[in-house]
Amino acid sequence: MRKDDSAPPPESGSSVSPDRPWFTRRSTLVVGVAALAPAALAGWVLTQVLAGSGSDGQQSRQLPASHASLSPGQRDAKPGSPPSGSPTAGASTPAAAPVPAKGPLAGKTVVVDPGHNTGNFKHTDEIDQQVDIGTNRKECDTTGTTTNSGYMEAEFTMDVSKRLRAALEAQGAKVVLTHETGDRAWGPCITERARIGNVANADAVVSVHADGVSAGNRGFHVILPAKVKAGAADTAKIVEPSRELGERIAGNFARTTGSAPANYLGGGTGLVVRDDLGGLNLSTRPKVFIECGNMRDAKDAAQLTSPEWRQKAAQGIADGIVGFLGG
Ligand code: ZN
Repeated sequence: MRKDDSAPPPESGSSVSPDRPWFTRRSTLVVGVAALAPAALAGWVLTQVLAGSGSDGQQSRQLPASHASLSPGQRDAKPGSPPSGSPTAGASTPAAAPVPAKGPLAGKTVVVDPGHNTGNFKHTDEIDQQVDIGTNRKECDTTGTTTNSGYMEAEFTMDVSKRLRAALEAQGAKVVLTHETGDRAWGPCITERARIGNVANADAVVSVHADGVSAGNRGFHVILPAKVKAGAADTAKIVEPSRELGERIAGNFARTTGSAPANYLGGGTGLVVRDDLGGLNLSTRPKVFIECGNMRDAKDAAQLTSPEWRQKAAQGIADGIVGFLGG
């Protein structure tokens, strides 16, 4: 993020000593549990996450058919179904219906929103147009940030979003991206980004970003919608499910990437609530933003520019969505 969407959130981490390790601060159990993952408890942690141990520590959900618990045969085979390559028996045999998606996210729709657009830099007049986000008016879109070496946030968000799409589709989800590489010169506007999730009747929406703040600020955070009601904005119904979605993503992101929650906001929880983002205010579906790291910090940038790390990031987000929707 950059410009208006990187304004300090209401929940500040200024009271937290930057010298203390993040895991000693107040944090959700999900994040705390994730900190143990590199140790011998990794298998247990995975089980707990997949089984749906929420931030309140209650075993409230059981994932019905996770990829971790089913063999390929269990996942794909269906008793009585013919081999996929078998010929049809003739005119009396009805045409085979499309094979329904398998996996814990079968029947679910996830909208993935790659933040910004690599073309926004060349279309500042267009993206500076003011749009109505209910609570106020804001720019249609922003350029996003870059690393010090010039790797664009918009490149990062598109790459992670495509990896996330692949991971979600592998779990049976229908995935819609709000835009694709090269399909448009700029944007979409934040109003359109929200509308795509609403129109798709998405079960979950994730907007992928990376932050652009001063060096030394490190780590990820997930942005949750505040309760707002003004104009077209009314988030009352999505505040609670969005928080659960965000907690799931934060815990799994920490586990897969090894990254810590941001050390500069959110009080070490990796969670921040904001009321100034059109993409959240205008959403009628459970939705969060994730700021995967700080592009302006050399150590974070080394991760953000690594394809291997981006795959871990996408997997963590996907696992969080599976945990949210699979229960
Ligand atoms: Zn951004």
